[in-house]
Amino acid sequence: MKWEENVRRVTPYTPGEQPQKAGIIKLNTNENPYGPAPGVAEAIRELDAEKLRLYPAFPEKTDLVKALAEHYQIGTDQIFIGVGSDDVLSMIFLTFFQSDRPVFFPDITYSFYDVWADVYRIPYETKALDADFRIRPEDYRQPNGGVIFPNPNAPTGELISLDAVEEIVKNNRDVVVIVDEAYIDFGGISALPLIEKYDNLLVVQTFSKSRSMAGMRIGYAMGQPPLIRYLNDVKYSVNSFTMNMPALALSVEAVRDEAYFTDCCNKIMKTRERAEEELAKRGFVFPKSSANFIFASHKAVPAREIFEKLKEHDIYVRWWNKARIDNYLRITIGTDEQMEALYRALDQIV
Ligand code: PMP
Repeated sequence: MKWEENVRRVTPYTPGEQPQKAGIIKLNTNENPYGPAPGVAEAIRELDAEKLRLYPAFPEKTDLVKALAEHYQIGTDQIFIGVGSDDVLSMIFLTFFQSDRPVFFPDITYSFYDVWADVYRIPYETKALDADFRIRPEDYRQPNGGVIFPNPNAPTGELISLDAVEEIVKNNRDVVVIVDEAYIDFGGISALPLIEKYDNLLVVQTFSKSRSMAGMRIGYAMGQPPLIRYLNDVKYSVNSFTMNMPALALSVEAVRDEAYFTDCCNKIMKTRERAEEELAKRGFVFPKSSANFIFASHKAVPAREIFEKLKEHDIYVRWWNKARIDNYLRITIGTDEQMEALYRALDQIV
């Protein structure tokens, strides 16, 4: 058809399956197996439908931004909020990656980065992880149009040190550097303190993993006020009110309940430790994970086969038919009971 010449064509990002079948064990999209803080359920009961007739507050005036500012001890003008960190990252690509030079990110990383680059026509170049799936900071020294990487990286779970992050930021003062910390709360050290020192650094986090609110869609970026102002300018030029009122009200409760948050993250890290032992016992190898998932390969049985057989047991994990990683499974850390069911199924498969 003639009109198709004028269509923006893209190969979309493919999220992990969201099977609607009851009783399955879902270890495929890094959701938190525990519910959000109890205050969130209470806040749901207290929602006032009458208030929905109004547009939500401007972002910097929301209780959510105020709560985050208080929690992280930064200014409300240092926080940008969005509909999940996907929305935040998408706005970041649109705002800061305007150079003719390529944006750098790892070859094995969050598979949304190249999709945003494509949809916004941003040139990019990937930097190969080393043989142990680690980011090499020295790869990010050539001239570029911006740098983005997750820490810990996804889907490998590998963390780089704060010094390594700083080295990348320091060597790229002419562009904006994004550290995607979707999984930082599972034992990593955040680069947040570096934002005071570097005006070219944005740290992005989410409520979807450690705060158990993937279904609410909330993410945020933190950096110096000029970065946040530029982001808001672009955001207001696309869709001014993206955050809905219930999401804004509920998320505040998740930020305030520090004890529940810490307890939840600790439980997941403990289960992860156990999972490392159990998987190793069954012949799996994997890089050390600092996230709520393990990226594992079996010494004898191909990943695809395990992936498909686990599904027959109603256990879903993630597998990519992609060079370098097609013999790996990304297994989200579930509850202890869910993990036990996984080990039992693996005993029959491998
Ligand atoms: N960054 C990374 C590295 C992720 O794995 C994910 C989860 N798919 C996201 C960002 C986006 O998560 P959300 O939009 O739910 O905040």
